[in-house]
Amino acid sequence: MSEPVLSVADLRVWYGTDRGAVRAVDGVSFDLYPGETLGLVGESGCGKTTLGRGVMGLLPRAASVEGVVDFGGQNLVRAKPKTLQRLRGPQLGMIFQEPLTRLNPLMRVSEHFEEALSAHEPGTPKAQIRDRAIDTLRAMGIPPTRYRAYPHEFSGGMRQRIMIALALVLRPKFVVADEPTTALDVLVEAQIISILADLRAGFDTSLLFITHNLGIVAEACDRVAVMYAGRIVEQGPVTEVFARPQHPYTEALLRSTISLNTTGLHYIPGAPPDLIDPPGGCRFNPRCEHAMTVCARQFPHPVAIEDQVVECWLHGPDELIEPGGREPLVREELSVADEA
Ligand code: SF4
Repeated sequence: MSEPVLSVADLRVWYGTDRGAVRAVDGVSFDLYPGETLGLVGESGCGKTTLGRGVMGLLPRAASVEGVVDFGGQNLVRAKPKTLQRLRGPQLGMIFQEPLTRLNPLMRVSEHFEEALSAHEPGTPKAQIRDRAIDTLRAMGIPPTRYRAYPHEFSGGMRQRIMIALALVLRPKFVVADEPTTALDVLVEAQIISILADLRAGFDTSLLFITHNLGIVAEACDRVAVMYAGRIVEQGPVTEVFARPQHPYTEALLRSTISLNTTGLHYIPGAPPDLIDPPGGCRFNPRCEHAMTVCARQFPHPVAIEDQVVECWLHGPDELIEPGGREPLVREELSVADEA
């Protein structure tokens, strides 16, 4: 296999608040290979967007970041703002959730492209900028006749396609797409997914696709990483993870997805924890129907099961499970014992 385009190791992001530190991303590791799409899924508030922005160096100043985001031998966590600015566009791209807030309403679409291309490729003749922009827009289904229109003259789906064209016109090696289709209807969503797949195949662009929609992951991603309370609790090839989920949270997420074959509604009881004061041990333990004594006492270690990696005591390692740790978790007893 080729070298990863991006290699994230033990990434941690936290914010200081009056109540304590919010550990939004707490020790996340994954690799992304050329031309690969990794879907990042999980409920709202699990740290997906913070992880995407942390990888891109787009977090607010108040955030503290540790760990390694290796991109071409360079740790982006330690990179200077000027270096990041230079990489964004030609090397790193970002597609945001809300296109209208990202496009300047006073600038024509053409001016957005002129600004992006002349910032990273100064001296490019205007005619060349126009040709490249129009080619990229055309690939997104935006006709050349709309090149000089203003953002408010487009529908939400078209604006999102313009945003994608802006992110891809410089052919970046790696793109983070943060819920790029959330506000769109299913037809536009399907178009955008197919456009991203074509571009990925055509330019070997690697994509981190953040979504809460498991149907999109099944359709558009090669691998999936399931995030819960700031950790990736399971990752592996989409076909394998969806066919044989190894983590109870992945299983519960898949069960709560509605499809044409759905006969009953399932949901995951409770809510993701407060990241200032998460539960001890496995953070999913208060919601997990398989929780054991060890789960509330010790943090689970990553275990490889063929191509999947999972953090769950159901899969060991056995030698680290304390005596009696495999007993079903009785929460009342635990809280009495902890208070003693
Ligand atoms: Fe459930 Fe324990 Fe696995 Fe956490 S470690 S998911 S509580 S079985």
